[in-house]
Amino acid sequence: MAQILIFLGPPGAGKGTQARVVAREFGVPHVSTGDILREAARKKTGLGLAAKAKMDKGELVPDDVISPIVEERLSQPDCREGAILDGFPRTTAQAQFLDGMIERTGLGEPLVINIQVATDSVIKRLTGRRTCQTCGEIYNIYMSPPRRDGICDNDGGRLIQRADDNESAIRIRLKAYERDTLPMIDYYRRKNALRQIDGNGEPEVITERLLNLVKTHDYL
Ligand code: AMP
Repeated sequence: MAQILIFLGPPGAGKGTQARVVAREFGVPHVSTGDILREAARKKTGLGLAAKAKMDKGELVPDDVISPIVEERLSQPDCREGAILDGFPRTTAQAQFLDGMIERTGLGEPLVINIQVATDSVIKRLTGRRTCQTCGEIYNIYMSPPRRDGICDNDGGRLIQRADDNESAIRIRLKAYERDTLPMIDYYRRKNALRQIDGNGEPEVITERLLNLVKTHDYL
C-alpha cells in the first residue's frame, strides 16, 4: 500500500535537503509544495502569480488553493508506491484535508516526522541558502558551500537565492509557523502519529538518523 512520508519542521530545518536525499534512497517522488508554487510562479500562471505575491512576503497561500494541488500531485502514477511530502501540511485544516484524502483513496497511514532545530540556527540556514536553478540542489554558503562560488557542483548550474530568504520575509514565515503550523504538529501529536528527529548537526548525520527512523517503521 502506498504510504506518505511527511517531513515537518520550521523554515530552515532542512526538510527540502533531507527530503531530496531520502526520496532518492527510496525511489519515491519528493513532493514539495514550495517547489510546485515557485515553478507555477516562474511560468507566470494565474495560480503562480497569486501565490508569488504571498510567498515573497512570507505569508501562506490559502488552504483551499494548496490542498487540491497536493491531491492532484499525489494521484499521479509516480506516487503509486508512496511519496515524501515537504511543506505540506502546514495548517490543521491541511492536515484534516490530507486525512480525508487518505480515507477516500485508501492510502496507508502517513509516517509523520518532525525535524527539530534550534530556532537561532534557522536565520543563518535561511539567509545562507542557495539553490541550483537547474537541478534544485541546495547549498548553504556558511555551512555547506559549493566548491566554486555561485556554481552548482553537480551540473555547473547557477545558484540563486530565494526571494523569501530575506530577513523581513523570514520573520513573517517564522510567525506563520508558530501561529499555523505548531497547532498542526500538536494535532499529529494528539493522534500519536508524530515521530521526532534531532535536526541539528551535519546534513549527512541527519540523513542517517532519518533513514534509521524510516527503516524501523518499515516504510515501503
Ligand atoms: P517552502 O519552500 O516550503 O519554504 O514554501 C515557500 C512558501 O510557499 C511558503 O512560505 C508559502 O508562502 C508557500 N507554501 C508552500 N507550501 C504551503 C502550504 N502547504 N500552505 C500554504 N502555503 C505554502
